[in-house]
Amino acid sequence: MSDLTRLTAAEIAGLVAAGETSATEVTQAHLDRIAAVDDRVHAFLHVDTEGALDAARAVDARRAAGEPLGPLAGVPVAVKDVLATKGVPTTVGSKILEGWRPPYDATIVQRLRAAGTVMLGKTNMDEFAMGSSTEYSAYGPTRNPWDLERIPGGSGGGSAAALAAYEAPLAIGSDTGGSIRQPGAVTGTVGAKPTYGGTSRYGLVAFSSSLDTPGPCARTVLDAALLHEVMGGHDPRDSTSIPAPVPDVVAAARLGATGDLTGVKLGIVTEFSGEGAEPGVLAAFRESVDALTKMGAEIVEISCPHFSYALPAYYLIAPSEASSNLARFDGVRFGLRVGDDGERSLEEVMSLTREAGFGPEVKRRIMLGTYALSSGYYDAYYGQAQKVRTLITRDFTSAFEQVDALISPTTPFTAFPLGSRTADPYQMYLADLFTIPTNLYGGPGISVPCGLSDGLPVGLQVMAPTLADDRMYRVAAALESALGTFTPPAL
Ligand code: GLN
Repeated sequence: MSDLTRLTAAEIAGLVAAGETSATEVTQAHLDRIAAVDDRVHAFLHVDTEGALDAARAVDARRAAGEPLGPLAGVPVAVKDVLATKGVPTTVGSKILEGWRPPYDATIVQRLRAAGTVMLGKTNMDEFAMGSSTEYSAYGPTRNPWDLERIPGGSGGGSAAALAAYEAPLAIGSDTGGSIRQPGAVTGTVGAKPTYGGTSRYGLVAFSSSLDTPGPCARTVLDAALLHEVMGGHDPRDSTSIPAPVPDVVAAARLGATGDLTGVKLGIVTEFSGEGAEPGVLAAFRESVDALTKMGAEIVEISCPHFSYALPAYYLIAPSEASSNLARFDGVRFGLRVGDDGERSLEEVMSLTREAGFGPEVKRRIMLGTYALSSGYYDAYYGQAQKVRTLITRDFTSAFEQVDALISPTTPFTAFPLGSRTADPYQMYLADLFTIPTNLYGGPGISVPCGLSDGLPVGLQVMAPTLADDRMYRVAAALESALGTFTPPAL
């Protein structure tokens, strides 16, 4: 058997179902790969060796007994440490949750188990999913397998790096402003943010509840679609979950893979396709546009004038929601508790716990959000940002009256060197310049590899109307069929 870690999820599921390999062999191959490279990459915060092998053996036993297997049976998956996993440490990249073992599984984790996937462990992330480089993890940064001196993106850098380093064929991410798509772009992998409400937030540690969207990460568009189908769909335990079937993303990915985009009309976002992005990123984007045209797509330029205000609006709305959501980390209910010597008041203990448990970026967000919501400033900051959010939604609505989907580079720049943007928060925030509008609107967006710039991956973003996730998979799969996938230098 060739190296099992090089296979796609679709291939692994096929081989396991046919009995040509076992879930146990596949899982062991990935655990061995993690043991060989993760001390350099640091994609994982926790590897659940025993849990993974138990799950794999259970799949093999079901197959031996002739019982039906789930659609991704035997396929290993790495889960961002933002999702609650029963009995398995869940830290959100923060010291404040160190040692917490949730008493329950997030809905998505339950669905992954039901589909027969094998959870390898929990992946590294910026603390509370706030960041674009994974350098704000309280447990040290993850490195980009393309160049170990560079960032893998964030906040879900661990999930993206695990894919690029062949430590896992599938991973779960969460995208509040770009945390699935931006790591996908800078690691040469695929990352999809589903329609808001299309994937369950039950058991997802909340950052910004009106924006947070869990989604699939993979090395191919079809694999992302297969994972999307398994993890998505209505969940009565999430009040903002949409009671609608998952769009047929797998069929759309297969259709796209035929390389025919006849009749598909795409809009290039004018504001995101000129200055503001590195020349190498724009060059790869332009070449991809040519490839899409050759496959029959009709391409027009569309101006979305309010997209330029998305970043400032996001940095009021997201911190405001975070300042409220993070109030629950008080040293009483979860994880860390500092200074409880029997003498100090409850308030002192809470304050000492939060002082010790949260890192500087999280504290910055809590302060920003508290300020934006404070009486006398609420209308000027939070209220104004909500109005901008409405205008951005209108830009999307009017664009989708003219085209089927919008395209842009996923990120303005490729993977930057570790440490180069941590001193200036604004420079870090710019990484999500092109991904944030989609979150404010609530529609789906995907990043698909579209070329290299100076040897580093570039991503193309496809944005579609709400609940038309299938459209973005079709376009992304078509581009992948024309350009192929991108493999980093051997680790
Ligand atoms: N980088 C953005 C932030 O820091 C987005 C993060 C995310 O999508 N979770 O808030």
